[in-house]
Amino acid sequence: MTNRSNLFFYYKHSVEHEEQLQPLFNLAKENGFHLVDNHEQANIIVSVGGDGMFLQAVRKTGFRQDCLYMGITVNEHASLYCDFHLSNFNEMVRSMLHDDIEVRKFPVIEARINKTMPFYCLNEVSIRSSIIKTITLDVFIDDLYFERFRGDGLIVSTPTGSTAYNKSTKGAVVDPKIPCFQVTELASLNNNRFRTLGSSFILSGERKLYLQTVDDGNDHPIIGIDNEALPIRNIEEVAVKLSDCVIKTVKLKNNSYWDRVKRTFL
Ligand code: NAP
Ligand code: MN
Repeated sequence: MTNRSNLFFYYKHSVEHEEQLQPLFNLAKENGFHLVDNHEQANIIVSVGGDGMFLQAVRKTGFRQDCLYMGITVNEHASLYCDFHLSNFNEMVRSMLHDDIEVRKFPVIEARINKTMPFYCLNEVSIRSSIIKTITLDVFIDDLYFERFRGDGLIVSTPTGSTAYNKSTKGAVVDPKIPCFQVTELASLNNNRFRTLGSSFILSGERKLYLQTVDDGNDHPIIGIDNEALPIRNIEEVAVKLSDCVIKTVKLKNNSYWDRVKRTFL
């Protein structure tokens, strides 16, 4: 495991956490891992916290392609991105030392705002009205004009993001083995004047989606990428596609995606 021995821990720094994590740090060092202070030197990045912390760990370290990501939870709640709990860190070290792990790859989407540089999203990109009025968006799939959406906004989620915001708006839960992305509506107006599909839809990873704001006095929507809001005003277009990047995480035995969905929701 020499090629995978530099560990970087991403967590909320506080005296309490440092104390809680000290046994973990010691165990890692005793087993030949190097703890590094700079994530750029790491080949394994470990987030400590829930799903929100995992999303931040991935974002703040730049969606590294040459790293494995791992999530450790500290409380009793099951978490979609976190396979380990503080109390079974032992098991994690043992599996890593014995190469007893499988690597799984999670699809990532790329959102390009106003044709500038792309932002990566592990959960979703959302576009929402920031005022009390509805937002109007023209939806294009590849070259096809598909629909004119009026309502609170749209969410474009990855498969692993499908259990997050997407699920709260009745989107489907999608197996991350399928390279695709899903579009869900936030409170669309549907009446004799305005019409949208009304259900969420899943696009093949080969497609491109374009959301164009319609100039009706509401062109300052909020753009959310995972758990961050983008400070961009005057949104004209959001282009979304599946990225070539993936997020690699460690898979324990008997812990498939559907095990985790069951554990979290059923
Ligand atoms: P948050 O508001 O604390 O998160 C909301 C909840 O979503 C938390 O319980 C979080 O888990 C959970 N979560 C995050 N990613 C998930 C995933 N892929 N599958 C299942 N649950 C997931 O904010 P946050 O923790 O920073 O998470 C950001 C995410 O919250 C966004 O990416 C978006 O998907 C979601 N969100 C949901 C709604 C909604 O459902 N109405 C609205 C806004 C945002 P932890 O407690 O383990 O962190
Ligand atoms: Mn959270």
